Amino acid sequence: ILILAIETSCDETAAAVVKNGREVLSNVISSQIELHKLYGGVVPEIASRKHIEKINPVIEEALSTAGVTLDDLDAVGVTYGPGLVGALLVGVAEAKAISYAKHLPLVGVHHIEGHICANYIENKTLEPPFLCMVVSGGHTHLVMVKDYGKYEILGRTRDDAAGEAFDKVARAIGLGYPGGPKIDRLAKEGNPKAISFPKAHVDGAPLDFSFSGLKSSVLNYINSCKMKGEPIVESDIAASFQEAVVSVIAEKTMLAAQMYGIDKICLAGGVASNSALRSRMRECADANGFLLFYPSPILCTDNGAMIGAAAYYEYMAGTRHGLDLNAVPNLKIGQR
Ligand code: ATP
Ligand code: MG
Ligand code: FE
Repeated sequence: ILILAIETSCDETAAAVVKNGREVLSNVISSQIELHKLYGGVVPEIASRKHIEKINPVIEEALSTAGVTLDDLDAVGVTYGPGLVGALLVGVAEAKAISYAKHLPLVGVHHIEGHICANYIENKTLEPPFLCMVVSGGHTHLVMVKDYGKYEILGRTRDDAAGEAFDKVARAIGLGYPGGPKIDRLAKEGNPKAISFPKAHVDGAPLDFSFSGLKSSVLNYINSCKMKGEPIVESDIAASFQEAVVSVIAEKTMLAAQMYGIDKICLAGGVASNSALRSRMRECADANGFLLFYPSPILCTDNGAMIGAAAYYEYMAGTRHGLDLNAVPNLKIGQR
């Protein structure tokens, strides 16, 4: 089964050709980061316009790199939520046009289910059930993947997402957008024990997260340094902040695995490419005898291949969307 997958939920225009859900024939990503950097974050209107400009060339490149034409495809997969409505609509309209013109089945995909399915691509033997810690720009979800396409959310953030916290702290220490990769790099030069930032827990909800207090305490720390005229060591702030995020994520993931008696764990989403998180999770998983999987960095951030993987399992389960498919900015996991 050959699927053309399209992803335009945020600031990456992406398309991929994926065979049988796990074999990536092409994965083309046109990032708008340089454009949005100027504004310190993603500007929705600009993102939509850029998607319109890029969508056709990106799809053409995905097809030609894969060495296929639209006539070789079995289905079209597309992210239809969650995300920026104007951005999503570009991908959805494109997918519907191809589906209509070529009489191809249309399969709408949940963006976060795509992030989770990125794990299938490089780990050919990975099969559900497993526990997935989703850490992205807009989500922090502990998800039980019970079967292909069957998800249960065990815990979530009550406020900021992990990636959002990285981006906000990066801005506060003057690193610019997107902050995650920059904090990751700078933290390597800093001392993670230099500053003790709070590791937020939610009373009575051991699998829920809260990162807004941590973000505020970093901002307060910077302000108090300024007021006292003390030097601000950006690398120590980056390392100490990252330590607070990483330790909470690792701790709660291990707790969830123990609570639910599952020994297979995956990471997903942009923050899953964080080097400190990957190595901490590896240590903790090894110590507990759990198997740990995570995608290569290029498959952690937004891409089309992960949507192709998710679309394949939806297709096999019989999911078909009509030409009335619409963008759903707040689509819930497991909603069809
Ligand atoms: P969502 O998937 O929740 O809709 P999104 O698509 O914007 O949000 P992703 O593409 O999954 O998010 O990931 C982007 C986020 O990942 C950004 O917040 C970015 O700062 C963060 N990120 C990327 N690389 C790293 C890294 N090495 N360390 C920490 N964070 C990172
Ligand atoms: Mg992005
Ligand atoms: Fe994403």
